[in-house]
Amino acid sequence: MAIHDFIGIGFGPSNLALAIALEEQRQTGGPSLSSLFIERQPTFAWHPDMALDHAHMQVSFLKDLATLRNPSSRYTFVNYLHEKGRLQDFINLKTFFPSRHEFSDYFAWAATRFEDRCVYGENVFEVLPEKHGSAVSLLRVRSRDQTGEVHERLARNLVVSVGGTARIPESFHPLRDDPRIFHSHRYLDSIAANAQAGKIAVIGAGQSAAEIFMDLHGRPGTPQVDLIMRARTIKPSDDSPFVNEIFNTGFVDHVYSRKPAERLELLREFRHTNYASPDLDLIQQIFKVLYEQKVKAQARHRILPRREVAAARADENGVHLTLNDTAGGPSDTIRYDAVVLATGYERQQHKTLLAALTPYLGDFDIDREYRVKTSSDFHPAIFMQGASEPTHGLSDTLLSVTAVRTGEIGAALLAAGQPDAQRTAVGAR
Ligand code: NAP
Repeated sequence: MAIHDFIGIGFGPSNLALAIALEEQRQTGGPSLSSLFIERQPTFAWHPDMALDHAHMQVSFLKDLATLRNPSSRYTFVNYLHEKGRLQDFINLKTFFPSRHEFSDYFAWAATRFEDRCVYGENVFEVLPEKHGSAVSLLRVRSRDQTGEVHERLARNLVVSVGGTARIPESFHPLRDDPRIFHSHRYLDSIAANAQAGKIAVIGAGQSAAEIFMDLHGRPGTPQVDLIMRARTIKPSDDSPFVNEIFNTGFVDHVYSRKPAERLELLREFRHTNYASPDLDLIQQIFKVLYEQKVKAQARHRILPRREVAAARADENGVHLTLNDTAGGPSDTIRYDAVVLATGYERQQHKTLLAALTPYLGDFDIDREYRVKTSSDFHPAIFMQGASEPTHGLSDTLLSVTAVRTGEIGAALLAAGQPDAQRTAVGAR
């Protein structure tokens, strides 16, 4: 069986940017690593069920797959526009924030250049250690394709970029299989299957909840929407320039160099730059919709703040949510035809995927170069993309640092690919 220098699990923007960084390192005289990326989806797709008609990027197009690492890369968004013949038209849009449709198309355009290094439609379900004597020298990556067939491949190193998984509030766990209740990452597909729903609950107060509210408002059938949140009100994302400096690539060093308690404090202090914080213009659109309802004396949509979903029950008449008012008001049970859980994402999937390696990986501590610290009898290097927010800061799950991070991981991979350097690097935990 062939041994790959590294296998990338997942082929979303992070591993795509890594493929680009490595190709460009090779073009400037660096060594060539044999690589394979394994992606669960049947083709390249970036959050396809949240590609809503009016949704735009929240980060500047200059934070694309390559610019911050190599502005002269052929994989920049500007070069994509040039090749597509839209560069001047884009300039006349006067925006830093392209539509999500367009950015998704940009990613897909770049991904087509790497099809020889990527298999689509395979779900990696475990990674096993391969021992040579008493030490682990290789990794056996096991995946299942859409027909159920299991594939095995060997790798010297691994880069795990699997993204987040849906956060489902506990009261909805028993209803996971009910098609009337779905997470925002499945929104477009699931709302099409619930096209007749007249009364819909959206849970959450983040960008996803706000975008979905506006999308439902514009849908045929004029559904009634209750936007239900634990927060006291909807707060905007702070993207003012000084605050936005926390997403600069250099800020990663600052966060990483802090003690754990201080890192936690930084995450808390700046949480509303990213989480539970829609863009201000979207909040203004929602406010306007509610204001116009008042003008017309209509009562179509409602914002229900300070509400905990205490219980969720489903029967043939709909989904019944019991909402507790956290300010001490009376509880209420309300019937809905459908419920959208815009409740964000968890980033623990890598731990399940790498469970068989746990004896060597300890607490999944990650070093500054995004490499998991391992015991000295474990020689492969495992890098993480998007799973290091606690140690590397809020930019870790976003595009903001992707181009530069993949340059750093690329350099570390090249070093790990050389056996002498590899053994030295893993000498101590
Ligand atoms: P999010 O920002 O994490 O917001 C999740 C919301 O769900 C919060 O209001 C949270 O409330 C609530 N929630 C979580 N657990 C809950 C529970 N058990 N019960 C009730 N409410 C609960 O998630 P998101 O809106 O999906 O955004 C995630 C990321 O994707 C962000 O980085 C965002 O910027 C990005 N995004 C980007 C775009 C775009 O580029 N156009 C679109 C959508 C999302 P609490 O605050 O009370 O915990």
